[in-house]
Amino acid sequence: MLTRSVSEGMLAPRLLFLTPRVAEGPSPMELQHSIGKSVVCEGVGLHTGAAVTMTLHPAPADRGVMFRVGAERRRVPVRPESLVNGHYATTLGRNGVQIQTVEHFLAAVRGLAIDNLLVELDGPELPAMDGSAAPFVALLYAAGRAAQPARRRPALSVVETIRVGDEARWVQISPSPDLRISYTLDLDHPAVGVQAASIVLTEERFVRELASARTYGFLKDLELLRQQGLALGGSLENAVVVGQERILNGTLRFRDEFVRHKILDVIGDLALLGRPVVGHVVARNAGHALNHQLVREIARRAYRWEANLDHAPSHPRLGRRQEAPARSRAAAR
Ligand SMILES: [Zn+2]
Repeated sequence: MLTRSVSEGMLAPRLLFLTPRVAEGPSPMELQHSIGKSVVCEGVGLHTGAAVTMTLHPAPADRGVMFRVGAERRRVPVRPESLVNGHYATTLGRNGVQIQTVEHFLAAVRGLAIDNLLVELDGPELPAMDGSAAPFVALLYAAGRAAQPARRRPALSVVETIRVGDEARWVQISPSPDLRISYTLDLDHPAVGVQAASIVLTEERFVRELASARTYGFLKDLELLRQQGLALGGSLENAVVVGQERILNGTLRFRDEFVRHKILDVIGDLALLGRPVVGHVVARNAGHALNHQLVREIARRAYRWEANLDHAPSHPRLGRRQEAPARSRAAAR
């Protein structure tokens, strides 16, 4: 097996999770969260085939998610400005380094509502694990969750529809009271066909219905991908491999695993905004490149959306940061 994984026991997602109770002041979910302790996992990159060790560390409030790469510890923040490539994976880059295939891990971080995290990598790509976000969910649960003495910034609410793409492949986001993702995958292939799903994102639904949906690839594309230096670490262990007529590695985890994985990818790419977003995403046959266009456009308009609000929310560019009162700060430790 190519992928060296965390221990078997850690791979079983736990649905129940306790956050510290705060007697007064903000509720636990109004507070920022990091992880409780450092944890490690190892594997190979899906595209580079490189062995990599990833260590997650707690990070202070208001830091967001930050990658630190290689012996030189070059930093790559999870922000729209760090996006450099959307060809078959989400690649971030900054300060002379690039990191490939961050999307499944970032989906897990967002799905579990972890705000602040330092992610140390000794290679150029995240470990593929089993091609889904489930091992990352297990790893984050193993690290535990720690409430922090600062309030969360409010989620970014979409106030107008943004659409990118063309008639065949597109993604849009519109105002909505929740983050809902409605996806249609329409592939002319007997093993995939038309799959459609719509889900309002909650942690429970993320863990139960999306996290374990694996990435997939078509055998006919494999040679071309490898000529481009992609899918070098891909195997039957870390992707659903689709042959001419049928799936080559056993049974699917969900009848509609393909579209569930596409939704997982959208969540991972939206995580590049660095904060939760609230809106209804509708997509058809989109991919990372279109998701990135959408993320950049949301980021470009966010400042105007929030500047127009009567009650300006907490936002670094507005120079306001909300702190939990001292009493709650102590209780949250
Ligand atoms: Zn994916």
